[in-house]
Amino acid sequence: MPELPEVETVRRGLTPAMEGQVIAQADVNRPDLRWPFPDRMAERLTGQTVLRLRRRSKYVLADLSSGETLLIHLGMSGRMTVSGDPLGQFTHTHPAAEKHDHVVFHMGNGARVTFNDPRRFGAMDLMETAQEGTHKLLKVLGPEPLGNDFNDSHLIKAFETKNSPVKSALLDQRIVSGLGNIYVCEALFRAKISPVRKAKNISKARVASLVPIIRNVLTDAIEAGGSSLKDFRQADGELGYFQHSFDVYGRENAPCKALNCTHTVQRIVQSGRSSFYCASCQT
Ligand SMILES: [Zn+2]
Repeated sequence: MPELPEVETVRRGLTPAMEGQVIAQADVNRPDLRWPFPDRMAERLTGQTVLRLRRRSKYVLADLSSGETLLIHLGMSGRMTVSGDPLGQFTHTHPAAEKHDHVVFHMGNGARVTFNDPRRFGAMDLMETAQEGTHKLLKVLGPEPLGNDFNDSHLIKAFETKNSPVKSALLDQRIVSGLGNIYVCEALFRAKISPVRKAKNISKARVASLVPIIRNVLTDAIEAGGSSLKDFRQADGELGYFQHSFDVYGRENAPCKALNCTHTVQRIVQSGRSSFYCASCQT
């Protein structure tokens, strides 16, 4: 499931194909994904210029010249591909349409942007740009982890009364938005905090240490995603999933990567999801 760095990589990959370009034609090949598409979606997209591509949490937001914003959520299995030859940036040709190509944008510059989602947990919606703060998916989100509103005092205050394990607290999108299972495990390893420790029992200094660590974990992953975009020309044009090595995530029983630690990484299940950590380093 894509987390913030993967979505940011998708946004960066889409930018040269879409930003500043007109959507010459939008094909909407089914009535819904996870939820029904908005009314007359193809009509409302066709002829609009994409003024800006942004990201909020795990959503890509395309501001349109009509004053509306298109929200794109990849869900569990959604992927976006770019083909064509916009400004010579992409050299691959248009592949044949696939069965799960649910929405296709034909851009004025010749790029074709395709949203493909076999399991259909993804979503697209249109809203007035000025009203985005009231959208059901956006209004519940806490601060962006890479933004200024995510800081020591915010996290300390949020954790003070939080009786749940720190793992769950960091997955709470009202506390910080866009973090998922993978990068929470990685951040807790770097912070040497056990995922089972109750949030309210962690010292203020250790809570504060999570802020730069979370930023660095995400920034490192975004850089890895950026490297994957450089190989884009050789690839099939699919955006967002890239090779990235993790310290603990997915490494059950493998040696802990901390210097001088002889323990192995453990996997436990918290709220139905795997947590990977070193019980010696993380307390
Ligand atoms: Zn260790």
